[in-house]
Amino acid sequence: MVYGGRFLYSATPPFGTHHYMDHLMSFASLGLSAPILSAVADQGYETPSPIQLKAIPPVLEGKDVMAAAQTGTGKTAGFTLPILQRLSSGQRAQANQVRCLILTPTRELAAQVAENVALYGANLPLRSAVVFGGVKINPQMMKLRKGVDILVATPGRLLDLYNQNAVRFKQLEVLVLDEADRMLDMGFIHDIRRIIAVLPKQRQTILFSATFSDDIRKLAKTLVHNPLEISVAPANSTASLVEQLVCPVDKKKKADLLVALIRKQQWQQVLVFTKTKRGANQLSRHLETEGITAAAIHGNKTQAARTKALAEFKRGGVRVLVATDIAARGLDIDQLPQVVNYELPNVPEDYVHRIGRTGRAGASGKAVSLVCADEAKLLFDIERVIRRVVDRETVPGFEPVHELPESRLPNKANKPRKPKQSRHKSEHKDGQRSSEIATGHKPPAKKPSTRRVRRKPAAQGTSPGAKNGAARARAASRK
Ligand code: AMP
Repeated sequence: MVYGGRFLYSATPPFGTHHYMDHLMSFASLGLSAPILSAVADQGYETPSPIQLKAIPPVLEGKDVMAAAQTGTGKTAGFTLPILQRLSSGQRAQANQVRCLILTPTRELAAQVAENVALYGANLPLRSAVVFGGVKINPQMMKLRKGVDILVATPGRLLDLYNQNAVRFKQLEVLVLDEADRMLDMGFIHDIRRIIAVLPKQRQTILFSATFSDDIRKLAKTLVHNPLEISVAPANSTASLVEQLVCPVDKKKKADLLVALIRKQQWQQVLVFTKTKRGANQLSRHLETEGITAAAIHGNKTQAARTKALAEFKRGGVRVLVATDIAARGLDIDQLPQVVNYELPNVPEDYVHRIGRTGRAGASGKAVSLVCADEAKLLFDIERVIRRVVDRETVPGFEPVHELPESRLPNKANKPRKPKQSRHKSEHKDGQRSSEIATGHKPPAKKPSTRRVRRKPAAQGTSPGAKNGAARARAASRK
């Protein structure tokens, strides 16, 4: 049962995946300088996250680093803090020059990383800027004219600026590829190669990726020299602090179920994922007619409209943000407690990214998927990738007429399948154009080889997430 079930009440320790030793480590012991430590303290961070503990020392030493870490682990500070420190000595950027280039797959992530750079560098005399497509190019050119020490950019717009002589890389010291897996997924490989071709060979290169597929390794080989490889979570594992649940429901009843859940659970801030832009618009309108404030965010909206919708949501002016996968990529909304998959994504890895929007940096998060019978195969694909069967709870009054078939577990539980390649060609390049692919529809996945197993009851906790949930519930009941 959803109502009053274990899903609803739990307390969360800060950075729940921390080993106790981590608490003995401070940012100061990592060798960061006073201006940076004071900026970090201003953010209220007390201890470095695991990825920060691993990434900061080698990046400070100037080493090339390949890091496997998902959004939400504190990875941005993991590379930004040591880079700021390195750049604070040395010659400032001259006209149109850049000393550190950070490439990101989406505009939202670029804006968010740039915001972090500005916050962490508040006490340093360094200039930073962000450039991405979908907005006027002229103000970006003006900004670059004086030179910037750190430039955050999406690939398409950066190439435009380069071709117009607005940016030069003679002084470039550091290159960061953030969410490299996503950049490849979105078809940025050619742009990335073009950019790399015009960068100095002598530089520090840092590559962050949620997963390390063969494609990423192939790209990395051409980029990094003698890199240090670090990781904080096994590839494709879902954030352990996120509690996941599937609510079986008929397709036609999904909108009503969502409204009922928002009201009953009194969700005040919920991010809802739909598969298509049209679906996002329709759902957002439906919620509004039910008296629930909502806004849609997707690639057909102007950058200004997307920024406005996000700001409204963050400030609490809008209760529900309905988003497509591409638009939501990189959204950082502090302490977002609730994510809803209104429709399951066609690509299982997108599920991992979606639920990564919640349970970030130690905050507890819940991800509910409304799943109809048609989506059974998508659910099984997801469960194979995350290597667990997600608990199910049927909401009274919404029992499906078309039953959702029982979940299956893969034969080789420890060997997730390689991500599908077929989507690369049709994927929207968020950093380059202002519209998404027409429907977001992708061909159905190949039939997996699976065996049927009995689904374990909810409370048994076969996964780290479930164990945490049970432990937290016990801790909460002791209070
Ligand atoms: P990221 O994985 O870089 O997107 O970071 C996720 C969130 O964690 C952001 O909201 C950061 O402000 C926050 N964060 C990063 N480092 C720490 C830390 N050491 N302690 C607490 N929060 C942090």
